[in-house]
Amino acid sequence: MEPQVIDKVLDTMRQFVREEIIPLEAEFLAKGFTAMLPKLQEKREMVKKLGFWCPQIPEEYGGMGLSLMEHGLVSEVLGQTPIGHFVFNCQAPDAGNMEILIDHGTPEQKEKFLLPLVRGEVRSCFSMTEPEHAGSNPVVMSTTAVKEGNSYIIDGHKWFTSAADGAAFAVVMAVTDPHASVHQRASQIIVPTDTPGFELIRNISVMGEPGDGWASHAEVRYSDVRVPQENLLGQEGHGFAIAQERLGPGRIHHCMRWLGICERAFELMVKQALLRELGPGTVLADKQTIQNWVAESRAEMNAARLMVLDAANKIDKQGVYASRNEISMIKFFVAGVLMRVLDRAIQTHGAMGMTDDTPLAYWYRHERASRIYDGPDEVHKMVVARRIFKQYR
Ligand SMILES: Cc1cc2nc3c(=O)[nH]c(=O)nc-3n(C[C@H](O)[C@H](O)[C@H](O)COP(=O)(O)OP(=O)(O)OC[C@H]3O[C@@H](n4cnc5c(N)ncnc54)[C@H](O)[C@@H]3O)c2cc1C
Repeated sequence: MEPQVIDKVLDTMRQFVREEIIPLEAEFLAKGFTAMLPKLQEKREMVKKLGFWCPQIPEEYGGMGLSLMEHGLVSEVLGQTPIGHFVFNCQAPDAGNMEILIDHGTPEQKEKFLLPLVRGEVRSCFSMTEPEHAGSNPVVMSTTAVKEGNSYIIDGHKWFTSAADGAAFAVVMAVTDPHASVHQRASQIIVPTDTPGFELIRNISVMGEPGDGWASHAEVRYSDVRVPQENLLGQEGHGFAIAQERLGPGRIHHCMRWLGICERAFELMVKQALLRELGPGTVLADKQTIQNWVAESRAEMNAARLMVLDAANKIDKQGVYASRNEISMIKFFVAGVLMRVLDRAIQTHGAMGMTDDTPLAYWYRHERASRIYDGPDEVHKMVVARRIFKQYR
């Protein structure tokens, strides 16, 4: 897309977010996802009419066909509200599932699972992490998929399967060959959630909030779940390879979404600092501590943004493998910036920062996880450091 065209698209999206989505935020924070769904669906129809549906999905499947770099810029705009990505149908985990179905799905899988997802008729989830094992090292996994006749029989226990509540299908990671080398033991298998044996045990309470629908994280048990072998996604034993593919672009989406959150939190912080009178003729913005927070936040956000765009550019030009260091560095660096900016914005708001009268507390509760999911900080730092040491050995 020509630079001036993408700029115009971003301007229109920015206006849409301000005028159509942010006004729904307070109700979303008070009532939750399911209660808001009819209103969110109305906005989704408007997005379709504007031609901005599924920005990162190729045009042949009904999306806008943006490059990773362009979608990063979109993600930053939509990240300014907790419901932005959902309204444009590019929310996790559906976005990642669409991408892997496009790359690895058979024509039948695309017809049955991908197209309804792209059209926004259904939602999906990704079920890899297990409570009994360290998710940081997912090669250790107890869930199994055993062949019987033309079926796989899946047994296992998962948790933090985000958005499983109300999802039409799950992409499940399960061991298909326990004797293969560690990275070739598992496969990804599509499981419709109405298959007998699929049990959503609970929406896990996260920081005091179990959430609902798309905005939730479930504990799920798979007991003798029988699905046809044609539900295998990609090749048998390629589960980890496909998961890695999904995570590269996914981290760009997340980081740009976090920068969108930072922009909104920053704006709220600056406006509050200018408004809040400490006494006659004195506002918070006159105090050096607040000035430091504003200046430091701006500098950190600018630095983080350039790092993410650089990583996206490298992935677009050289692929995910060549960009592994950049992807790891933005993952922990931007999550750190997000935590600091949110914390300063809440502190600037005082007691109001703790309420749900602004989205700051929602993000503070939910985005603490940014330092954990898609690889905890420590793991990303370890792999970056290892590669650096290797160069000097
Ligand atoms: C909000 C949220 C949404 C999620 N959504 C999904 C989802 O949709 N699907 C899914 O399958 N999973 C999901 N997850 C799970 C996520 O992928 C795991 O939490 C993550 O991989 C970490 O695994 P763990 O929680 O088992 O932590 P562990 O692996 O037990 O690690 C605990 C801590 O140990 C430290 N640590 C780990 N390894 C090292 C190391 N090598 N060196 C030093 N320190 C280390 C880190 O600080 C880490 O936080 C989600 C998690 C959250 C919080």
